[in-house]
Amino acid sequence: MNKEWTEKGFVDEPVDESIDLKKEIRRLCKEKDAVLLAHYYTVGEVQEVADFIGDSLALARKAAQTDAKMIVMCGVHFMAETCKLLSPEKKVLCPDLTAGCSLADSCKAEDLKEFKEQHPGYKVVSYVNTTAAVKALTDVVVTSGNAEKVMASFPKDEKIIFGPDYNLGNYINSVSGRQMLLWNGGCHVHEKFSVEAIVKLKEEHPEAVVMAHLECKAPVLAVADVKGSTAAMLNYAKAHPETKEYIIATEAGILHELQRSCPDVTFYPVPPEVSEGGVGCSCNECEYMKKNTLKKIYNTLRYEWPSVEVDPEIARDAVKPIERMLELS
Ligand code: SF4
Repeated sequence: MNKEWTEKGFVDEPVDESIDLKKEIRRLCKEKDAVLLAHYYTVGEVQEVADFIGDSLALARKAAQTDAKMIVMCGVHFMAETCKLLSPEKKVLCPDLTAGCSLADSCKAEDLKEFKEQHPGYKVVSYVNTTAAVKALTDVVVTSGNAEKVMASFPKDEKIIFGPDYNLGNYINSVSGRQMLLWNGGCHVHEKFSVEAIVKLKEEHPEAVVMAHLECKAPVLAVADVKGSTAAMLNYAKAHPETKEYIIATEAGILHELQRSCPDVTFYPVPPEVSEGGVGCSCNECEYMKKNTLKKIYNTLRYEWPSVEVDPEIARDAVKPIERMLELS
């Protein structure tokens, strides 16, 4: 393999600017029997070219069910790993191997292993935003779309370590009365939303319904009318045609599908908190998700690289908690 590509983590090959990339991607998908899955947080043109768009739960289900020979996962690395775990016989392509996740990075397998050893008798529940190595140390995986349902399968007094998203774990503790031990991880995008920014938008748009993702901090969730996954937000907006304005506290990529599904509704994305003096990230977008470009998808299909592999020993243990989640949700 080209050394430069290996170092970059994606195929950096010039593409003839006169070609219609969307058309060519669809042609290659057909020719190679590939299914193209995209997360709601990817850019609009990637969502438009995909066979299927969804949140982590829907994408995991799709990966488990597809008959296609090849899967192109346009999301971040742990999502491609999840596809590979569920469909080990298929080639799983990830258009850019450097598309990581700050939340997955906040929990290293060796640290979780040590924490487990310090807490014998505890079950481990992990958010899907984790590496395969962390999943291999896990009893059951959850997503923001099914966490409450999956958690209900555990007795109320079960001793549980929940990670890596502190905010999601804290929310489950608050609604279920559990006292799970929480890992102190978080998503750098969702942690930047503030109550102040939401209140300011609400003053400007008093009729707007506030929707917030469960990865947001507790004070943000406390002022939200609707709390849930991206799929839950979409379903709510579709089910309430009488509501014409929403304030959205999650990664801004979801606005593409919200707007497509509800064209006569106005969605106001919450800007992230910017630290005093205007210093700090002023972006409510995930830079990892935005690494999926049409050019990279086209090249990954052309060269069938980069593909994602998981160590077979890790894969054997990591797939079990995902399958358990799919059975329970
Ligand atoms: S938005 Fe946050 S949790 Fe989602 S992939 Fe990006 S860094 Fe990870």
